[in-house]
Amino acid sequence: MPTQTTTPTQYEMVVGLEVHAQLKTASKIFCGCSTKFGAAPNTQTCPICLGMPGVLPVLNRRVLEMAVKTGLALHCQISPYSRFSRKNYFYPDLPKGYQISQYELPLCEHGYLEVALPAGQAGVNGQIKRIGIHRAHMEEDAGKNLHEGLEAASHVDLNRAGVPLLEIVSEPDIRSVDEAVAYLKTLRDILVYLDVCDGNMEEGSLRCEPNLSLRPVGQKEFGTRVELKNINSFRFVQKAMEYELRRQEKVLREGGRIVQETRLWNTEKEITVVMRGKEEAHDYRYFPEPDLVPLIIPQELIEEVRKTLPELPDSKRERFVREYGIPVYDAEVLTTSKDLAHYFEACVEVYPQPKTVSNWIMTELLRELKNSGQEIADGPIPPDRLAGLLKMIDNGTISGKIAKTVFEEMYRTGRPPEEIVKERGLVQISDEGAIETLIDEVLQAHPDERESYRQGKSQLLGFFVGQVMKRSQGKANPGKVNELLKRKLGET
Ligand code: ADP
Ligand code: ZN
Ligand code: MG
Repeated sequence: MPTQTTTPTQYEMVVGLEVHAQLKTASKIFCGCSTKFGAAPNTQTCPICLGMPGVLPVLNRRVLEMAVKTGLALHCQISPYSRFSRKNYFYPDLPKGYQISQYELPLCEHGYLEVALPAGQAGVNGQIKRIGIHRAHMEEDAGKNLHEGLEAASHVDLNRAGVPLLEIVSEPDIRSVDEAVAYLKTLRDILVYLDVCDGNMEEGSLRCEPNLSLRPVGQKEFGTRVELKNINSFRFVQKAMEYELRRQEKVLREGGRIVQETRLWNTEKEITVVMRGKEEAHDYRYFPEPDLVPLIIPQELIEEVRKTLPELPDSKRERFVREYGIPVYDAEVLTTSKDLAHYFEACVEVYPQPKTVSNWIMTELLRELKNSGQEIADGPIPPDRLAGLLKMIDNGTISGKIAKTVFEEMYRTGRPPEEIVKERGLVQISDEGAIETLIDEVLQAHPDERESYRQGKSQLLGFFVGQVMKRSQGKANPGKVNELLKRKLGET
């Protein structure tokens, strides 16, 4: 490689993510202990997960099935022959002195994930990018050190020791913070869709370690990477990466070199700090786990699991575009959760105007859900009620504007639209006589404007329409108002 003589002005970021997903099994990976979160310390342990000598691990079949299911969803090759390895290191939360993981023969390899990149400023139709999955393998979790309580002591809780994890390692295909966040969100959606992980970052069911490096734009070789640990929310993933990007860029601009190291995200100071350098990196002395037989995965098992795969967000998105003729952006939003997608389809079934339904869900419904902190599954507005409301607009009972008010009240009170409209007297006024009376009142109240209109200031039509609508408390049929006003004003 030629030595560089000038400082390049532009750097490109290269990122690969390591994600640990806790698999949603009832019992641990190699013993029968419960995996339930939040139990009193050390109440969910046994000689196996406590690492007593002489015990033998047995693989939980559900862990294997969930791992295969995830591997298939991530378009991975499922290795017909794989095995577990021992990863040796010493730490108080690891009673055996090694973690059972997979190393040279992982279960899943060479997959990919498609992410919809955030849309441009216009807010429509982001592009789709494919990010490679290097591997996904099964392993056991370690325990947890607790540094709490009044005594000046630390304790170890081994309830988490032996809880099953799937480590999913991406290729270094990610090129921006936005892409990294989109990847992580998409991956979480898939895991939740598959029902193999609850996706809760705060409780540690999903953990993310970004590896990040910079290189001058145009250079082919990757730069030296830094691994970021201790990040437990999407916001922190974003902040930690943004900080690290700036830090590395500054070092490089000042002619320095990036050191390969592991850094921790400090939540209070909002900076990354060195945890360990390459020299201190562990030598894990991996070797095949002698207490477990190699895994031979028959094709029949893979096919069995494949049958249980639900329709995933990406195929659902494509189907929504194809079947309902809605824009990619709408389909993307509507397929972010299984429940939302299901709600949309249930509405379209009773009210077959997909784009109208999509508009109401994306604006009115999602806004109310966000404001009230509710989930769509809480069912504040059942599909047939939304359909009922939309039908009332179509048949002229209420105006689109009034419908929004009715919608808010439906959401707040859980009452059907017909009842609200009737009780509050919101039925649209389409009767020509009634509208003409309102028009006459308005024209009488504004003789000056009427005169100006007569002299050619035709943009005053909007003013008159507004006044009539106001007098009708929003209930007059706007089309009728327009038509009758034009006629009246033309007469004079
Ligand atoms: P380790 O086990 O030491 O963390 P891996 O080979 O598992 O190493 O890689 C970890 C992650 O780092 C992967 O997601 C990979 O894509 C990413 N990665 C590798 N090289 C680079 C680089 N130069 N810049 C950014 N990310 C990288
Ligand atoms: Zn146990
Ligand atoms: Mg790593």
